[in-house]
Amino acid sequence: MRPAPGLRALATVALASALLAGCVPSTESVGPGGGRPGEQTAQAAQTAQAARGARSAKSPTPTAQPYRRWGLTTPLPAPPSPPARRQVSPGGDRPSGGDLPPVVDRILTRDQVVFLTYDDGAEKDPRFVDMVRELRLPVSMFLTDSVVGPGYGHFARLRSVGASMQNHTLDHAALRGLPYAGQRAEICGQQNKLRARFGIRPQLFRPPYGTYDTTTLRAAADCGVTAVVLWRVAMEGDGELTYAKGPARLRPGDIVSVPSGEPTGLSLRERTTRLLREIQGRGLTVGRLEDYV
Ligand SMILES: [Zn+2]
Repeated sequence: MRPAPGLRALATVALASALLAGCVPSTESVGPGGGRPGEQTAQAAQTAQAARGARSAKSPTPTAQPYRRWGLTTPLPAPPSPPARRQVSPGGDRPSGGDLPPVVDRILTRDQVVFLTYDDGAEKDPRFVDMVRELRLPVSMFLTDSVVGPGYGHFARLRSVGASMQNHTLDHAALRGLPYAGQRAEICGQQNKLRARFGIRPQLFRPPYGTYDTTTLRAAADCGVTAVVLWRVAMEGDGELTYAKGPARLRPGDIVSVPSGEPTGLSLRERTTRLLREIQGRGLTVGRLEDYV
């Protein structure tokens, strides 16, 4: 755990808890514009259920539906068709920022979806790969090279089952206030690592602790990032949800951060199950963030 020198005074227990978990919500986020009616249909949900049923029949334990194996009482509905065009166009929500990427902490959409994002890459549980595959969770992993260490193989497996890999710097530095060259090295350096490991060019970047400045946005743009992704909701190591601002409940379009927890805390799997139950309880499902930004 490193200090975050650029942070403003953060008084609430929730935010202090988020800091302990490794990331702190920024108070500077700029919400995206746009939004369109949802397209969730019963047919889509039925199709997904049928697909899950077919998969289950081929699994080694045919009596257990995947959702039951992962602690859910009902299947997770399939997300609606993604929007025809992304809801945040790079630069479009920052008219004064020129070519700077937009900064989003939630998506303005009527689609009944939230977005699951996992930070750092500390936990490498093979069963989490099974969970993502069996539940078809479209999760986004924001990876820090120094945290992942030699463990990129785990994330290659996660990627092969549908997770996306995104940028969370080389060394989890608090970027705000650092000179351009240092910020660029942290961001472009991790872009290069992810390209070398996965052959991809990540579009999304999450600054460690959620702290950033205009220099960060400039460096991110120069490294090929098209959107800077913060979060409104965090799932802490103890399984509690905290809300950076706004109502203390999940809403459509929320971006949920699941940071690395304490070694003694709940596993990513356990926290994900809790999160999915909460999502289902609100009548929501999980969408793919990259379809919206
Ligand atoms: Zn982090």
